Amino acid sequence: QCVAVCPTGALVERSYIDQVWDVIEDPKKHVVVQTAPAVRVAIGEEFGYEPGTISTGKLVAALRVLGFDKVFDTNFAADLTIMEEASEFKERLENGGYLPMLTSCCPGWVKFLEHQFPNLLEMPSSAKSPQQMFGAIAKTYYAQKAGIDPKDIVVVSIMPCLAKKYEANREELRDSGYQDVDYVITTRELADMIRESGINFQNLPEEEYDSPLGESTGAADIFGRTGGVAEAALRTAYEWITGEELKNVDFEAVRGYEGVRIAEVDIKGTTVRVGIAHGLGNVRKLLEDIQEGKIEVHMIEVMACPGGCVGGGGQPYHHGDFNIIKKRTEAINKIDRNKPIRKSHENPAIKKIYEEFLGKPLSEKSHHLLHTEYFEREWL
Ligand code: SF4
Repeated sequence: QCVAVCPTGALVERSYIDQVWDVIEDPKKHVVVQTAPAVRVAIGEEFGYEPGTISTGKLVAALRVLGFDKVFDTNFAADLTIMEEASEFKERLENGGYLPMLTSCCPGWVKFLEHQFPNLLEMPSSAKSPQQMFGAIAKTYYAQKAGIDPKDIVVVSIMPCLAKKYEANREELRDSGYQDVDYVITTRELADMIRESGINFQNLPEEEYDSPLGESTGAADIFGRTGGVAEAALRTAYEWITGEELKNVDFEAVRGYEGVRIAEVDIKGTTVRVGIAHGLGNVRKLLEDIQEGKIEVHMIEVMACPGGCVGGGGQPYHHGDFNIIKKRTEAINKIDRNKPIRKSHENPAIKKIYEEFLGKPLSEKSHHLLHTEYFEREWL
């Protein structure tokens, strides 16, 4: 059955729970799971916790009890996304490339752009979303390291998002040689699986993600809220452009809840203007203003859902109560503040994957596995 609840309207909910149970029970399959940043601050609501409760450790424990072979974190791939996206931004800025550059993590938004603004397909960063980078890396780098044939690896994503189901099925996202992400389960669907298994979520211990695709920085956590992807990119771009250490990583100028925001950030004498929009009506307005020359910016961050992924269509229902979205956002910011490392390019596991496998950001291998293209699309 299909329930249209996604902000893009054209996207419908299809459940892959049965397929996920089947692969978990198949001894020939090595099933790895990744969890998006926004899931950990919302899933607790399904089990009696207050909105804004951070449930990362219990989420990891629940996934192990359910039978996943490895519990990894989309946040690792969010840090990887910043390495590629910040490199692309620096290159476009310094070499006269196409600006503004749009962040490309939100498939709801990317699909909307492909349908509604096909003349702007050069604008988005070619970097894949963290979900898709994770899938491509799991079936190449991880497969090699673990000595597992990638045909036996199944990648399952736990996402706050319905559009991620559509994204995983895009024909061009098979750069590992296989479908990079096999199945997407929403936060609500995961809660159903946990209940179905009779797990008492509140009694679960706090557990840690597996290595090597489980390590992340605070910059990755903030991908879950509006303004976060831009802020994470700025933390890295600032240091790469200036060659100086960024002392205060909190870019307050890009934070907030207004539907459209324009922030100015000083990068050693150069003013970088960032446009931020969340909710598709606001996004359309921002793009139309840019097209008409009313607004000039260097970078744009767009999230289709109000508040960003914390308010995604696959999250526990918030029934339009924006206070719930704010509490989830505050929880995301708290996780970021408490992380020992808060810049993506300082993540040791990210440094290692470039040393061992990818070479450098925007290398041929990085381009092949971590970047994509956009196409004009007809409505279904
Ligand atoms: Fe999905 Fe909404 Fe997040 Fe976009 S903002 S990635 S549609 S949850």
